[in-house]
Amino acid sequence: MKNIIFIAPHGTGKGTQCTNLMNKYNFNHLSTGDLIRNAIKKQDSFAKNLEETINSGQLVSDEIVLEMIKNYLKENKSEQGIIFDGYPRNLNQAKSLDKLLESLNQKIDIVYYLDITKEEAFKRTMGRLICPNCNKSYNKYYDDLKPKNEGVCDNCGTKLESRTDDTKEAFDKLFDIFLEDTYPILDYYENKNILFKIDASKNQEDIFKEIEKVI
Ligand code: AMP
Repeated sequence: MKNIIFIAPHGTGKGTQCTNLMNKYNFNHLSTGDLIRNAIKKQDSFAKNLEETINSGQLVSDEIVLEMIKNYLKENKSEQGIIFDGYPRNLNQAKSLDKLLESLNQKIDIVYYLDITKEEAFKRTMGRLICPNCNKSYNKYYDDLKPKNEGVCDNCGTKLESRTDDTKEAFDKLFDIFLEDTYPILDYYENKNILFKIDASKNQEDIFKEIEKVI
């Protein structure tokens, strides 16, 4: 069993790489962004708050996200291990995750940091398209990430959309948060000797090859 974390700035394509890894090695894929987007679909007052938070380029509170993770772990058992996509995003979350896994006699084995420039992350963000039905992600600016038929999902034929948080304003705020709050947790994992830096400027196939070398 291996538990894995992916850390990357907004728009890098970590969701795509997590899905690749999940499909090939049978890991569970826990995306806190997906959990939040699913909660938003319920359209109650809690959902409205969450939606406002993510669309304005802020993070959801540590307590709410931790509760979502605890519920996910209760409902989803995995023999192979879990890929944490988008969690942790700050030192407090990293420590909470360690504590939670320790209580389950588990630990984090691998942390991938997808290294990318701000300019490239911004281009990927602006080209991103997502299927609102099955969450599969595409990118209109990259041939290897375009859907087979323009504007519709390869998996389920649903019309693709841009994410409501993929705006310049939200991107800029999230990039600043990344530098300030998320970047410092790289040291935390480096000190545990489980951090692997991946050059994410390459195409998605080559990035995946680098990721697989560590697995
Ligand atoms: P993502 O799909 O990982 O890009 O996440 C989408 C948005 O959900 C983020 O921009 C945050 O607003 C929120 N979010 C996702 N994961 C977390 C987290 N670990 N802590 C706080 N907010 C999060």
